[in-house]
Amino acid sequence: MGFEVDSGGFYGEYGGAYIPEMLYPNIKELEDNYMNIVSSDSFQSKFRLLLRDYAGRPTPLFRAERLSDHYGTQIFLKREDLNHTGAHKINNTIGQILLAGHLEKKRIIAETGAGQHGVAAATVCALTGMECIVYMGALDVERQAPNVKKMKMLGAKVIPVYSGNKTLKDATNEAIRDWINHPVDTHYIIGSVVGPHPYPDMVTRFQSVISEEIRIQLMEKTNRNYPDYLVACVGGGSNAAGAYYHYLEDDRVRLISAEAAGLGVGSGKTAATSLIGTPGIIHGSRTLLMQDDDGQIEEPYSISAGLDYPGVGPLHAWLAKSGRAILYAITDDEALQAAFLCTRKEGIIPALETAHALAALEKINPGAEDVVVVNLSGRGDKDMEIYIDKLNLSDDDKQD
Ligand SMILES: *Cc1c(COP(=O)(O)O)cnc(C)c1O
Repeated sequence: MGFEVDSGGFYGEYGGAYIPEMLYPNIKELEDNYMNIVSSDSFQSKFRLLLRDYAGRPTPLFRAERLSDHYGTQIFLKREDLNHTGAHKINNTIGQILLAGHLEKKRIIAETGAGQHGVAAATVCALTGMECIVYMGALDVERQAPNVKKMKMLGAKVIPVYSGNKTLKDATNEAIRDWINHPVDTHYIIGSVVGPHPYPDMVTRFQSVISEEIRIQLMEKTNRNYPDYLVACVGGGSNAAGAYYHYLEDDRVRLISAEAAGLGVGSGKTAATSLIGTPGIIHGSRTLLMQDDDGQIEEPYSISAGLDYPGVGPLHAWLAKSGRAILYAITDDEALQAAFLCTRKEGIIPALETAHALAALEKINPGAEDVVVVNLSGRGDKDMEIYIDKLNLSDDDKQD
């Protein structure tokens, strides 16, 4: 079974480019050029240099001794939380800002929900002196004030969107409208492996540095270059796609995807897209999404803002449908407990998104000799308010 994108931009029955006609020139320019640019020596040398000296790569692969003892297996954490700006998202924005430079674009637009992608986009725009406009639902602007401040300090213009539910979907619509109006000078930096072809493939390639490094690092530490289990959380799916990439066709590796169940898969307050989603078109690609019988998109819910997305990248829809990835839906409470455990066992406070991947360790039952890699997608600084509130950290009865 193939997991590379085909020439039409499909992974199995998912993907493609379902876009308004007015967006066609923009997408065509990208599609015609991205592979040549990204595979060129001049692009690769700039990309590799920035990943190393700016983002801080390679990120360590850390043998988590106390978590391993706890679960009776061998657990390694891929430390994407140690990247500049605190998560894997910078890998993608570095790639896309360099691509925009090669295409001689002068202006960057981005959409953001929780603000993490907006900050990563604003960061690389400051780095390269590009104009940066970030569309953000008005409700999210209110909810994510610290990230809005960061984006502004970095020099980005944050435009609140008041249509619809005033969240990510509405921000995305507004970004697309902007792009239609500025086809020549503007590049749209999408923040995950979503959107019309070629975005899912392009973003996957930028993030695939994660699995490239895991192979080398596992070889050094375990004398073989693959794990038995590879665990990642899936919002849109970019950190998972990057961690999986070099193992997609390797059946020795069990790919474990953690989705956000919110209050429970059947509760109506969930973001477990691959489990309860049905095929449909969102943000320009055919994928699994949460929709009602009339095709209206249902508002997702998760305690973690980065997993709170009604669709999933087409690669992940295909990994789920084909059975290549094993999916677990993790509730808010399970994620919180896993975050707490990782913090007390390893001294690493993970992002709430990442905590969903860690919670999957409760479900998979690995053997004592098995090698388990968890992609630690980001750090928990941004989530401290929720952690303190939910875990009653002022009580000292929570000692290990
Ligand atoms: C944004 C984010 C995610 C979810 O996005 P993916 O595209 O699914 O990776 C996961 N973890 C962290 C830390 C994030 O910031």
